[in-house]
Amino acid sequence: MIRIAIQSKGRLSEESLALMSEAGIRIDAIKRKFLARAADFPLEVLYLRDDDIPGVVAGGSADLGIVGYNEVAETGADVRIVRRLGFGACRLSLAIPKEQEYTGPAFFEGKRIATSYPNVLSGWLRANGVNAQIQKIMGSVEIAPAAGLSDAIFDIVSSGGTLVSNGLKEVETVLESEAVLVAGTLDADKQAILDKMLFRFDAVMESGGKKYILMNIPTDKVQEAVKILPAMRSPTVMPLAAEGWCSLHSVVLERELWDKIERLKALGAEGILVLHLDKVID
Ligand code: ATP
Ligand code: MG
Repeated sequence: MIRIAIQSKGRLSEESLALMSEAGIRIDAIKRKFLARAADFPLEVLYLRDDDIPGVVAGGSADLGIVGYNEVAETGADVRIVRRLGFGACRLSLAIPKEQEYTGPAFFEGKRIATSYPNVLSGWLRANGVNAQIQKIMGSVEIAPAAGLSDAIFDIVSSGGTLVSNGLKEVETVLESEAVLVAGTLDADKQAILDKMLFRFDAVMESGGKKYILMNIPTDKVQEAVKILPAMRSPTVMPLAAEGWCSLHSVVLERELWDKIERLKALGAEGILVLHLDKVID
């Protein structure tokens, strides 16, 4: 049995549970208790506030955790980052009132900066040789300058919309973050369960952004089409009943899909089908 801590309510909760469910690990999310058992995998879930996750994993009360890298950096907890999970992308940035001119890190000398991330901020200030006063506040950091509590803020930014609507501009990005899977010290049994989970997680993440494509193509164009469509090993080519035609199957990156389809059509491809990929196991 392995225990994983995930955020109980918030921006990472749904996607953390979705990742596990796509990996075939189903947890009863309707009756969300403090501790829940997976139906068909030796795992239990501990629902916590995100701030508590790194410390609980480092302390051994949970074996694994899914949490924003920003929280790992802030707590400085002694955990191992096992995987970057590709969701919950954001950054920790310094922002100042938009009408002020930004002159570089020295701008912050002697200023008051409001933040919920004092440790990450003091690291950046030290690295840049700046002395500033850190004002720790746990919520609504973005209104601190307008309320006269600070001269600048250091906070989570994703689209930047919140900054703009509060009359602020982002001037320094200090830390890029996304959700990460973290682990504490694991014995051999737990490591084996984690390896099994990772095999499934990797298959789920690998399928993201990819599509399965199949089409009919004149046999004499197959060589050229194969050059456009490198697959995991190479595309699958099958003869069709109709003389002179083949069926060609491959996996392509979604962002390259339209470009490839246009080139394949120009070669004479017909009946092109694009299908959703559920899992990719290399
Ligand atoms: P909790 O009640 O669990 O302490 P919280 O309010 O501290 O929740 P959320 O706002 O749910 O936290 O954010 C959780 C994590 O989601 C953040 O730590 C960060 O890693 C990530 N995240 C991604 N985009 C954003 C964003 N635009 N604003 C805030 N957090 C974001
Ligand atoms: Mg929190």
